[in-house]
Amino acid sequence: MKRVVQKFGGTSVGNLERIQATADIVERSVQQGIETAVVVSAMSGETNRLIGLANALCPDADVREMDQLVSTGEQVSAALLAIELQKRGVMAHSYTGVQAGFRTDSSYSRARILSVECERMLHRIERGEVPILTGFQGVNEHGDVTTLGRGGSDTSAVALAIALNADMCDIFTDVDGVYTTDPRIVPQAAKIERISYEEMLELASQGAKVLQNRSVELAMRYQMPIHLRSSFVDVPGTMVMKEDEVMERAAITGVAYNRDEAKITIKGIPDHPGIASALFGPIAEAGLNVDVIVQNVSEDGTTDITFTVPRGDFRKAMKIVQGVSKDMQARDVKGDDHVAKVSIIGVGMRSHSGVARKMFETLAEKAINIQMITTSEIKITVVIEEQHVDAAVKSLHTAFGLDAEGAAA
Ligand code: ADP
Ligand code: ASP
Ligand code: MG
Repeated sequence: MKRVVQKFGGTSVGNLERIQATADIVERSVQQGIETAVVVSAMSGETNRLIGLANALCPDADVREMDQLVSTGEQVSAALLAIELQKRGVMAHSYTGVQAGFRTDSSYSRARILSVECERMLHRIERGEVPILTGFQGVNEHGDVTTLGRGGSDTSAVALAIALNADMCDIFTDVDGVYTTDPRIVPQAAKIERISYEEMLELASQGAKVLQNRSVELAMRYQMPIHLRSSFVDVPGTMVMKEDEVMERAAITGVAYNRDEAKITIKGIPDHPGIASALFGPIAEAGLNVDVIVQNVSEDGTTDITFTVPRGDFRKAMKIVQGVSKDMQARDVKGDDHVAKVSIIGVGMRSHSGVARKMFETLAEKAINIQMITTSEIKITVVIEEQHVDAAVKSLHTAFGLDAEGAAA
């Protein structure tokens, strides 16, 4: 007998009609004799609505209270789906993260799953029940509700699939697969039939929010296949799987972008050992994530360091850097919160040469200035002015031959 976890995102439970359509998919799976467990997100827009309410009262509300608040969205959609399924005679019950045994650490708003104690869920599935879990949430050692970061229901679903030893994790959303880039920006984007965990992880980490990057990381570690597909049309989606099962492809598999970036430069720091640690130590202690870092040493014995942080952390990071730069006797600190990252990703990069050159030439032809560059074995990322993101993504997509056949450019 097959066992699957089906995850439904916000649009798939966005209103009562969509909940009924989702119930159709779950019911069909049960009728096919498949052991089915479900994870749901909040109804679309609900998490943002809840955050908006809190922000209207207080812009930097206590993180514990924020998690207590935003975790309620998933409880509504889970219960509504259970009600609809029960009406149809399907044995289904909803469970919160606590009830389903999702244990996490205490990093409110970005908690990590420590374990999934799923004996109760397993027992229910074996009795033919469909458990419907609230995604995005867990419980810490004090018994308090935590959440897993935006888009975290994907991670809940993969973690549950692993814990239940499922054959597959189906992620239902509003697109029918992973595309070569965000179809909202490039209508010529093409659907990818199969993609390796590694490439999907880079795509998701570099801004393709179709899957939360932590869900891909987890799936890769436990080799859990993900089928990303549409809850609106019943067509095969994209399989995220081991690389050797993926067919050989061109140099580039996809293009990702992230507008949520800000850049800080510290100029003229007297160059001696310990500078980077004196700078990034306090930033790490404040819980801020630094991404791209570039350091240049000039001939006068000073050094410039530039790095990026998520835009939401810009003010906080600037404050810290301005403080440390005085101790370091740096000449100047500059910030820019209108930058963005554009990345090209593909395992084919390992065996194709000239990929970087082609990327830089393409951007130069569009007169787009590259501010920073960083690479990994299967990715090249550039930091550019935010206003050029659409043009950069579109031109790279075309230059690397990713436009769907027959699509008008
Ligand atoms: P859900 O609420 O179901 O989790 P999300 O909004 O989180 O859905 O993710 C789906 C969206 O991700 C799509 O509507 C699409 O606009 C966006 N997206 C960004 N990059 C890609 C990509 N490379 N392929 C497919 N969708 C993408
Ligand atoms: N509802 C949460 C969010 O909007 C979690 C999710 O959708 O995966 O981020
Ligand atoms: Mg999502």
